[in-house]
Amino acid sequence: MKTLAHPQKSARTLRLCSFVLFCTYLLLAPLSSAESLAAHTHGVAHMTIAMADESIAVEIISPAANLVGFEHQAQSEREVSAVKKATKILHQPEKLLTFSGGECSLLDTELDISALKPNASDEHEHEHEHEHGEHHTDVVARQEYRCKKNALPSSAKATWLLHFPATERIELMWIKQATQGSATLTSENPKIDFK
Ligand SMILES: [Zn+2]
Repeated sequence: MKTLAHPQKSARTLRLCSFVLFCTYLLLAPLSSAESLAAHTHGVAHMTIAMADESIAVEIISPAANLVGFEHQAQSEREVSAVKKATKILHQPEKLLTFSGGECSLLDTELDISALKPNASDEHEHEHEHEHGEHHTDVVARQEYRCKKNALPSSAKATWLLHFPATERIELMWIKQATQGSATLTSENPKIDFK
C-alpha cells in the first residue's frame, strides 16, 4: 500500500468552500473522516458531496494512477495521449457524477491535473516525493451546482467508476441538509442514495 499525506488539504478546502455548511462539514468533520481523506492508495478515490439549501459542492480526489496509470509528468507519446484522454473525460461532469431526482444545473467546475501535463512547471502543488523516491500525484476535480428551491437530488451515480476502471472504489462522504452518510462505491455498486 502506498500512502502519503495531503498537507494542502486544509488550504484547498478553504479555497473550495462556497457556502457555510460545506465549510463547517469539511473543516469540523470527525478526525476519522479527515484521516481517510489523507491516504493516497492506488485504486481508491475520495468523493465529497455537500448539499445545502440550493447548492451542491462536489470534490473528487484521486491518485493520478487511477486515471492514466502513472503519476509523473507525461513524457512519452503514449503518456501524453493518456493525459489528454483523461482531461477530456474530466471536463465532462456527467462522466464523473450524475444526479437524479433534483432540479439542478452546473454552475462551475475546477480541475487540477497540471502535474501530469508535459512541460508543467516544477512547482507541483499535489506532487510529493515519496520516501522511497517515488512520485505520487493526485488529480482533483470539483463541481458546483445550483438547484431550484426544495429540489435537491435524491440520488446520484458515480459514473467516474465506468470511465476510470482502474479506480477500484470511491470512498464517499455526503451531507444533505442535516443528514449525512458515507459509502464505498464500486463499478458494481456506483449508486448513492441520499437518505
Ligand atoms: Zn501514488
